[in-house]
Amino acid sequence: MDQIKIGKFIAECRKKNGLTQAQLAEKLNITDRAISKWENGKSMPDSSIMLDLCNELKISVNELLSGEVIKMDNYNEKLEQNLIDMVKQKEESDKKMLKLEVVIGYISSITFLILIFLASFVEMQNWIRISLVVLGSITFAIGMFNCLKIEQTAGYYECDKCHYKYVPEYSSVFLAMHKGRTRYMKCPKCNEKSWQKKVIGK
Ligand SMILES: [Zn+2]
Repeated sequence: MDQIKIGKFIAECRKKNGLTQAQLAEKLNITDRAISKWENGKSMPDSSIMLDLCNELKISVNELLSGEVIKMDNYNEKLEQNLIDMVKQKEESDKKMLKLEVVIGYISSITFLILIFLASFVEMQNWIRISLVVLGSITFAIGMFNCLKIEQTAGYYECDKCHYKYVPEYSSVFLAMHKGRTRYMKCPKCNEKSWQKKVIGK
């Protein structure tokens, strides 16, 4: 998807409908800065707002994502390309999130170890010692919560028995035994327990 082209197309349609950025923003209940960001190709309209935006601009979502008016004879072709691009974008952002998970994991673990090390071996008043342990534990807990949240939502888990791919509940990811990212969970489709691998594509 070409963000710059989409941005120019939004601006073009907005003007065609005789709207200023501020007027369009008001209709959509958002800031005019958001609109100017779209039009400059710096960001894409959120999926939650796409339909309303397209209604105001009198275009289809397919046209919005293509960044141009689409003739009827290649409408489906464009639609398919846009769907493929959306899936690709999700896969790329999932991959980035999983890398981020590793970084968060390391940072929170190392912070935890350093604070516990200081609290154990460095001369200090007791209340500081206790504060360091508490701070270390909180950092670690927040880090782990976010890591698990990423692991739950980025990509899918694949059942080893029936190969069904799905996004599990936070609680089942939290409670499951794991080897790295592979988790021992119950499949919602075949109801069998197996070691399920994290996969990116569906
Ligand atoms: Zn299964």
